[in-house]
Amino acid sequence: MNDKLLNTIAARDVKVGGLIGRRIELTWQNNLLAINWERDFLAPFLAKNSDAGAYIGLGKSLDGLVRLAAHTGDGRLLARRQQVLDTLLPAQEADGYLGIYRPADRAIPTWDAHEQAYVLMALVVDWQLFRQERSLASAQRLGRWLVSRIPSTALHLVGKRTWQGQVSFLSRQLVLTGLDRALLALYRATGEPSLLDYCVETLRVAEWDQPIVEGRFGPIEGHVYCFLSHCLAQLDLFEITGDRRLLAQTRRALEYLRDGRALVISGTNGITECWHSDQTGTGDIGETCSVAYLIRLLSHQLQIEGDGWYGDWMERSIYNALFAAQSPDGRRLSYYVPLEGERHYWDRDTYCCPGNFRRIIGELPEMIAYRQADGVMVNLYTESDITTALANGTPLVLRQHTDYPHSGQVRLDVEPARPARFAVRLRRPAWCTEFVVAVNGETVSPIGGPHFLAISSEWRPGDRVTLAMPMPWRLVRGFRKQVGKVAAMRGPQLFCRATPSDSATEFRADDIAANLSLMEFPDPGGRATYFACADSPLMTDDELFPQGIGLSQGLRRSDSEGEDHRH
Ligand SMILES: [Zn+2]
Repeated sequence: MNDKLLNTIAARDVKVGGLIGRRIELTWQNNLLAINWERDFLAPFLAKNSDAGAYIGLGKSLDGLVRLAAHTGDGRLLARRQQVLDTLLPAQEADGYLGIYRPADRAIPTWDAHEQAYVLMALVVDWQLFRQERSLASAQRLGRWLVSRIPSTALHLVGKRTWQGQVSFLSRQLVLTGLDRALLALYRATGEPSLLDYCVETLRVAEWDQPIVEGRFGPIEGHVYCFLSHCLAQLDLFEITGDRRLLAQTRRALEYLRDGRALVISGTNGITECWHSDQTGTGDIGETCSVAYLIRLLSHQLQIEGDGWYGDWMERSIYNALFAAQSPDGRRLSYYVPLEGERHYWDRDTYCCPGNFRRIIGELPEMIAYRQADGVMVNLYTESDITTALANGTPLVLRQHTDYPHSGQVRLDVEPARPARFAVRLRRPAWCTEFVVAVNGETVSPIGGPHFLAISSEWRPGDRVTLAMPMPWRLVRGFRKQVGKVAAMRGPQLFCRATPSDSATEFRADDIAANLSLMEFPDPGGRATYFACADSPLMTDDELFPQGIGLSQGLRRSDSEGEDHRH
């Protein structure tokens, strides 16, 4: 196995408060405990009579349930996890099938492999977190079914019965999204070589080198979520083989978003689920699945490369695009969140986006801080309490006291069980022009790169680090379709207005706090992110983008429009 520079700290050992903690709590209290698992999720797995084309997304939601049960230790969540498994596992057929389709429709058409791949992944996660052998045994039987029933790569397109009753086609990459990662996770849990062989030789995980394709047409090749998921499968394989060529597709996607300036200001991408780079802000922008996968990919990339710049991007996407997908009470979730125009919540608890939202929320506790060979790295600033150990085994508690992102004042208590020499690395956010660090009240000059500062010291129980990161308003210049307008940001957060931008008059920047009636972007009342503004010293370019770089190479553009497949 190939070690990463940064390693995760189990969510069970992390307590999260602040805005991130609140979003996590809303997700499990008002969503995971409120949804009807029996009727909406489990019944189709018991009946097994769904038509080709049906999709539930049980595995994604179960993954979130299992993770949050382990993270919180809450009795109701633990009981719900147990109930779901007690119903689901007996529904597995003798040959290992654990899906919703009638026999004639299995394996090839549409979402059968996708649905079951995520069930498999959730069962492996359950085994990792709770060590219940029945989950792993069920995952192994399901893995054998998938490996024996998914046809070889010769089949490029698979049929789909659309909602209108017509048959169209979807790319194989799209309908098999998640299968590679699930089988690699099962391989890592069991060491069963045939699983790795299948991923390498049949799914050809290492050889996948699809270009970025913009627009939605035909079998949907430029699907953001699908693309990022296959990137993650390559990073999973990289952890097994150490072959750095497996990092190339991830670099291609992130360069397209950054150097190609395709990322939209809320930290997402995609229109009707497919890549776009013209900065369109209306309509079906930023599928929640793709936001979840982008955050996950950035976290993996941060762990592999150790560059805090990925953390800057993570907080942009988490505080804005991801949190905007959740209603203020946590009950409803969005499929898309446009920058301009009316916001809508998804009318169901099932399907891809709600499930992928629940999953990534279950992973957020592991993105606050990471372990390193020589210490720890703090990535996300939020009220939190983390229990871990140094490489030499010395127990360490890291406690953040802060109201971030409302202010940039953070107190970090560093509590090794006994005095120990190690490094505490702190992400310096790209939006932050002044970063003042003190240890036990004395200002220090940490060393490090532009995105990271490290304090190497002998740390003792009771040591306190304080950070001051002033958060002035900034007016971020739009470009392409948003040229001539600005968006208001403060720290990692994007703000917006309740009135459409076409009714906007020009604003003086010094009026910003008093007169703009700004709300946080995740507020469902938001209708306008970009607005016209008189020239102002607060105007700046988006700090996430390097200057003066045009569209990335290798971009293929589609001029034909496709059908309306969601997924
Ligand atoms: Zn989705």
